[in-house]
Amino acid sequence: MKPDGYKAMNKEILEILACPDCKGDLRIESDEEGAAEIVNGRLICDTCGLFFPVKDGIPNFLSPDSGGA
Ligand SMILES: [Zn+2]
Repeated sequence: MKPDGYKAMNKEILEILACPDCKGDLRIESDEEGAAEIVNGRLICDTCGLFFPVKDGIPNFLSPDSGGA
């Protein structure tokens, strides 16, 4: 049961998330180091090099950014 209005993405979600492109493991890079949840940061796939912005606790898998490929 999660509180209403809960927006931040908990780091535990990484255990069920995988790269939508290569299914590799994602790691988190948070703009707020040490926080228990991710509000703003990015999810990075070390396997294929894609990363996905996290804004307001929502990971955006629709616009992957490979750093300018
Ligand atoms: Zn990948």
